[in-house]
Amino acid sequence: MSDTACPLCFPVDETLLWRDAFCRAIWVDDANYPGFCRVILNAHVKEMTDLPPEQRQRLMAVVFAVETALREIAKPDKINLASLGNVVPHMHWHVIPRWENDVNFPDAIWAASRRANPTRALPADFRQRIQTRIQALMQSRE
Ligand SMILES: [Zn+2]
Repeated sequence: MSDTACPLCFPVDETLLWRDAFCRAIWVDDANYPGFCRVILNAHVKEMTDLPPEQRQRLMAVVFAVETALREIAKPDKINLASLGNVVPHMHWHVIPRWENDVNFPDAIWAASRRANPTRALPADFRQRIQTRIQALMQSRE
């Protein structure tokens, strides 16, 4: 995939939570997984090992900030971190809140559904709270 055809190089309708010159965190609107977030490198890079070590650490620091904020605010039973990139080979990490009664648990979210989607709502101020928390966690690193 050339970067001119890459949906992560040319995003449309992302719900941005945090960004800097290096990467960004977005909130994915997923009916089965409210609170699903993604951390996306701004540059079109395929693999973690294409990045120099300090940039790998920087990217994971953002992933961990998002995970921390998500745990505090959405209170899932488990977090799944996933980096696949088979469809879109542009470095991004999925930060997925999991519940023991979610549609796929204990399988990966991409597996066949095991049950109906339970009703699950995030706090009404989720976006504001997670934005504020990610910002604070990233500032505390600087
Ligand atoms: Zn790209």
